[in-house]
Amino acid sequence: MSDRERSRDASDGTGGDHPLLEVDGLRKYFADDDSILDRLLGSDGRSVKAVDGVSFAIQEGETLGLVGESGCGKSTTGETLLALQDPTDGDVRFDGESVFGRDDLTAFRRRAQVVFQDPFSSLDPRQTAGAIVTEPLVIHGLPDTDPGVRTEADVTVEGLDPDRVEVRVGDDVDRVVEPVDGVATVHVTVRRQGGTVSASVAEDLTARVVRGADSDDGSGRGEPVVVEVSLGRSLSEIRRDRAKELLERVGLSADQVDRYPHEFSGGQRQRIGIARALALEPDFLVLDEPVSALDVSVQAQILNLLSDLQEELGLTYLFIAHDLSVVRHISDRVAVMYLGEIVERGPVDAIFEDPQHPYTQALLDSVPRADTSEQGRRVDALAGDVPSPRDPPAGCRFHTRCPHAREACRAEAPGDYEAEVPGQRAACFRLIDDHPYWDSEPIDVAAERAERDRSTDDGAGDATADDD
Ligand code: SF4
Repeated sequence: MSDRERSRDASDGTGGDHPLLEVDGLRKYFADDDSILDRLLGSDGRSVKAVDGVSFAIQEGETLGLVGESGCGKSTTGETLLALQDPTDGDVRFDGESVFGRDDLTAFRRRAQVVFQDPFSSLDPRQTAGAIVTEPLVIHGLPDTDPGVRTEADVTVEGLDPDRVEVRVGDDVDRVVEPVDGVATVHVTVRRQGGTVSASVAEDLTARVVRGADSDDGSGRGEPVVVEVSLGRSLSEIRRDRAKELLERVGLSADQVDRYPHEFSGGQRQRIGIARALALEPDFLVLDEPVSALDVSVQAQILNLLSDLQEELGLTYLFIAHDLSVVRHISDRVAVMYLGEIVERGPVDAIFEDPQHPYTQALLDSVPRADTSEQGRRVDALAGDVPSPRDPPAGCRFHTRCPHAREACRAEAPGDYEAEVPGQRAACFRLIDDHPYWDSEPIDVAAERAERDRSTDDGAGDATADDD
């Protein structure tokens, strides 16, 4: 093994040492005979290797872009690391703790949420925007109260003797007041004005003078004043207020809370999807093609919103996309997937300016650009279909489409090799100067593809003749 070659490591190449998410050797295979149709048609017993040994880490506050063609396994990776699918093998650690080893995923699910691609099908048309956004709160029974949390008041008194004032705080105000070290503190002001005593509270609560409101005799002594601080609203009213806050946070209006999905545009629906993902105040979001179904002008608005939210809330993103140009604007690092494997990863500028893997190069060459100086650039670089993940090619999985493929590429699977740029790595023999790849015979990929297409056509013709 060359000194530039290293074993696949979940934490390599991230440029940081506070990974929020670590994915290590993740595999997700789908059994071939899962459906009745498969059984009727006769399964060949081979599973679909949707995700096949994927490792990466995402630092706190970072965005990792995960890109590749449709069917490469990127969405399955996102769903599996969120434990929405059972893994076949491998591990995912979130904040240092294994996800798949947990008996109860409730705490993980509160911290890790997903935004789906299609803002039309991902929202229930029978629910209002408010109901959609608050659904995660209802499912998780939030906001909840913890009997172990103590409540207390920090009281400011104006115009009367502080010893005459008693403030009683409800046990459940921790539903809306974040406790610190097990104590939920509310800030109450009690003041006398013109013989009348009133109370206000800084938090989103209700403060009410229940005794002594009008009993001040001007001497500063009089009936004791009792103030009660409570939620003042039902749980459903608290959730509705939270929905309004979330809608405003994603650029919608609070008075749209009672509207239905069909009353919103595509971009507005995706904003609702983002608000729903934020309802549980997560730390990590899987953004699964969140702008693919939107017009280009709307895409930019949603990307800006996601960037702003990340900055304001300190979020960490896995941004899944097939469009490299979208990924560039939001990612710190990029990982490129092909047929269930990560073939290249690195800092976003290195991936775009000096891609090392032929697949990444072909993806970049396929991105339409307006720059007239690049009119001669190849846009058909990524020829041929993606092979079946049920029977991926031996050796390097990209060798059936790679313009640089040689015989060595079908004999052996490449490792994960370091490039010149720190943190950039690619699974291609061309990064290794003294690899036998360089002495092996080139493969005529186009001729082999044409031959495969011919035999497929002949097979189809024979089948038709037999049927006849
Ligand atoms: S290992 Fe060979 S087939 Fe695979 S990407 Fe590199 S050159 Fe192409």
